[in-house]
Amino acid sequence: MPQYKAPLRDMRFLLNDVFDYTSHYASLSNGGEATPDMVEAILEGAATFCEEVLAPLNLSGDQEGCHFENGNVTTPKGFKEAYKEYVAGGWQGLSHEVKHGGQGLPMSLNLLKAEMMGTANWSFTMYPGLSLGCMNTIMQYGTEAQKDLYMPPLVSGEWTGTMCLTEPQCGTDLGQVKTKAEPVGDGSYKLTGTKIFISAGEHDLADNIIHIVLARLPDAPRGTRGISLFIVPKFLVNADGSVGERNPVVCGSIEHKMGIRASATAVLNFDGAVGYLIAEPNKGLEAMFTFMNTARIGTAVQGVAHAELSYQGSLPYAKERRSMRALSGKKDADHTADALIWHADVRRMLLTQKAVAEGGRAMIYHAAKLADNMVNGVLEGNKAKYEEFDDKLGFYTPILKGFLTEMGLESANLGMQVFGGHGYIKEHGMEQIARDARISTLYEGTTGIQALDLLGRKVLLTTKGKCVREFTGDMLGLAKPHLLSGGPIGKMARQLAKRAIQWNVLTTRIMLRAAKDRDLVSSASVDFLMYSGFVMMAHFWLLQAIKASETLASGKGKEPAEFYKAKIQTAEFYFERLLPRADGHKKSALAPTSAVMAMDAEHFTFQ
Ligand SMILES: Cc1cc2nc3c(=O)[nH]c(=O)nc-3n(C[C@H](O)[C@H](O)[C@H](O)COP(=O)(O)OP(=O)(O)OC[C@H]3O[C@@H](n4cnc5c(N)ncnc54)[C@H](O)[C@@H]3O)c2cc1C
Repeated sequence: MPQYKAPLRDMRFLLNDVFDYTSHYASLSNGGEATPDMVEAILEGAATFCEEVLAPLNLSGDQEGCHFENGNVTTPKGFKEAYKEYVAGGWQGLSHEVKHGGQGLPMSLNLLKAEMMGTANWSFTMYPGLSLGCMNTIMQYGTEAQKDLYMPPLVSGEWTGTMCLTEPQCGTDLGQVKTKAEPVGDGSYKLTGTKIFISAGEHDLADNIIHIVLARLPDAPRGTRGISLFIVPKFLVNADGSVGERNPVVCGSIEHKMGIRASATAVLNFDGAVGYLIAEPNKGLEAMFTFMNTARIGTAVQGVAHAELSYQGSLPYAKERRSMRALSGKKDADHTADALIWHADVRRMLLTQKAVAEGGRAMIYHAAKLADNMVNGVLEGNKAKYEEFDDKLGFYTPILKGFLTEMGLESANLGMQVFGGHGYIKEHGMEQIARDARISTLYEGTTGIQALDLLGRKVLLTTKGKCVREFTGDMLGLAKPHLLSGGPIGKMARQLAKRAIQWNVLTTRIMLRAAKDRDLVSSASVDFLMYSGFVMMAHFWLLQAIKASETLASGKGKEPAEFYKAKIQTAEFYFERLLPRADGHKKSALAPTSAVMAMDAEHFTFQ
């Protein structure tokens, strides 16, 4: 099992050298407390908790899984104690309002913490992670009374929350939701129906679970316009905030899954369960999607987490395990064979994992700044600011979620590959990373759905390509001062500038073709998303390389020169070996739909 070590040096490089988080926090209305000392204390504290408490439970949690008996779920050995420690450390309320018991810090700090927790133990991280969606919904749409009642124990972590959308007949198409909510007459509702795949839907870590549930009122219009949102507590809550009677929302079973086996995925039966309307009737889906960008960026972090963990596992193995001689001649003359790391193809695998983990982390840190500004808009009651940053984040979100989780999965597979046959054997922990990573491209909107959101909604429908023009404008702005430079920075800057123009041309060509062929949006969407991901990551690799090169030249870096040189070398690897994949995606995205659509559904097989 890889021994998780939080990548604090890379995190500090991004926070301080690349993104200047100190100035960013100083510009936020809730950033005053986020001084460099405070940020450092959070990084160090979270790293210790993740390395010493969560990481040791990752393999055992996977081996043991969750237990289900008579509607109750028991988490694997050690999870309860770890969760207690998490709550006692005040980690859950890091970015929540002080009036509800939180620390009121910017939400980016929560994302940094989430990456460390998720890399150490993704299954564990899902229990407190799902509470965030629940808390965001209550904060945005709840009445003051609902906030006062539910927020303090959720913020402390004493209670956890869930998001209950999926039903047996629908996950993507929530217009098909059937769960019913009937008014009782006293302001409450009785909910009846079945939700499936509910993460943290039942467990033994907290005293109460607050479910946020999509359901239909009796007179609701059909489809997505007839869906409302409800708060349904596992135990009803008395007026004084104490836990009251058991509500009839019962766990029917938990899923037996390929990965994240220590995370309980519950079937929940609502049998006349008491619920309270939150947000306007029939506007539940809109409300549910309000903070969807931040939730999806939380899942994008999973791509970084699995790339990082697989890299941390495969790198020491590649230095230790020996096989044959390097093609360019003996490297470890004292041994009968050279270490794997001397073989170019093994280096390709290692550098791919490294480039995805560090490039993806940079993408997340940039998006986290936007998320901080968006939250500030809410806190300041500044709707225009909230919408401006939510729109910006809306462009990044499907790219980050879709591209980073796909690349995280590839990295997890490469981690196994470096181990050869031993990667397939459970005790090394590498196959667990691949199994755990597999879910990330499926939940919170599959890659296909992220791609449709990006190309169909954000690029074509809502902005007519403006979001691409804006981002490629930033790319040109970054590249321009270096276009005439020699060396690797100049070379990469010229490539990035070409890609900026190409991304716009690709968007326009798809836009023109889609007007004549509606299927093109769906058939081109995943290739367009992957193209966008490869090009966007190139931007963040050039940015890192420029900062590394400036720091090297200044001689004022906090790290040794080798750290900055390795950054520039990884950027070069990315531009030479990974970015060219964008060309294949571009070509496929522009292919006519006929080859995809012409075949009759009956002719897909002849058995
Ligand atoms: C471990 C786990 C945890 C989960 N946690 C939660 C949770 O906490 N809460 C919750 O509510 N749900 C949860 N889910 C459900 C998850 O979000 C859904 O499974 C997911 O959204 C996909 O829905 P589906 O499974 O119904 O697939 P479908 O919607 O049936 O999709 C099947 C395939 O068709 C594609 N597809 C569907 N529609 C289109 C279209 N219009 N155009 C092109 N392609 C399309 C999809 O991309 C996918 O490849 C979880 C699922 C799992 C497995």
